[in-house]
Amino acid sequence: MFVEIVPCLKDNYSYVIIDPKTNKTCVVDPSESTPIIKFLEKKKLKLDYILNTHHHYDHIGGNEELKKKYNALVVGYKGDKNRIPSIDIEVEDQQTWSSGNFNAKIIFIPGHTIGHICFHFFGEKILFTGDTLFSLGCGRLFEGTYEQMWTSLEKIKALPRETKIYCGHEYTKKNSEFCIAYDPDNNDLKKKINEINKKRLNNLPTIPTTLGDEIITNIFLRSDNDDIKRNLNLVGSNSLEVFSKLRDLKDNF
Ligand code: ZN
Ligand code: FE
Repeated sequence: MFVEIVPCLKDNYSYVIIDPKTNKTCVVDPSESTPIIKFLEKKKLKLDYILNTHHHYDHIGGNEELKKKYNALVVGYKGDKNRIPSIDIEVEDQQTWSSGNFNAKIIFIPGHTIGHICFHFFGEKILFTGDTLFSLGCGRLFEGTYEQMWTSLEKIKALPRETKIYCGHEYTKKNSEFCIAYDPDNNDLKKKINEINKKRLNNLPTIPTTLGDEIITNIFLRSDNDDIKRNLNLVGSNSLEVFSKLRDLKDNF
C-alpha cells in the first residue's frame, strides 16, 4: 500500500492510498477536489473510496465533486451521517472496514468534534488521525470535552509505536514552538525540531511522523510525565488536569 500526500488549501493534507496490486484507491479527507483530481490524472488512477475523519469543511470539501466524477463511495462515522456530505458507508467504533486489500479499523476519537474517527490500517501500521493527533500537537476542542480528547489520545497511544501517523494539517513547526516552551530539556524534542526545521526550509512535509516519536516529543501525549507536571507547577495533578492546562495554554499561545 502506498500513501501519497496531496497538499490542499493553505495547510491541509489529503492522502491518496493506492493498492499497487489492484490500482484501487482511497482518498482521506479531501479538502477540495481539484488537487486530488490532478494527482489521480497524473498517476492515471481512478478513485474508489473517500474516507472522512470528521465533518469540517476542510476535510470533506471535495466529497461531492469527487463522488460525481468517479462514482466513489464516501465512508464516514455513523453518528455523523447528517454532517458528512454524500455519505454511503456508515462505520462505527471498533468496526473493521474492508474492501479488496484495504482493511481499516475504525477508532472513535471524539474531542475536536463529537463525531471524529480515525482509520487504522493495522496491516500496514498506518493511522489517519485527522484533527485529533497532529505532529507535536492535538486538535482544538470545538465540540468535545477535555476528558473526551484525553481519552481519545490515550486510545491512540496504545497502538504499536511503529505506527505511521498521517494527520490533517502541516502545523508541526508552530506546534514545536509550544512544546519546547514547556518541555525545554527534552533532547528528543530538540532533535526532532532540527529535523522539522530542515524539512520546512526545503518545503518538505513533516508528515508522516511515528507514534513512538510523538510519545516522547509531543507534549500533549506527555501529560502523564513528571517533568511536564513540574514545568507547569502541577506536581500531584492527574494527567487529565495536566492535559487540560496544556490545551488552554496552547489556545492562547
Ligand atoms: Zn477539523
Ligand atoms: Fe482541519
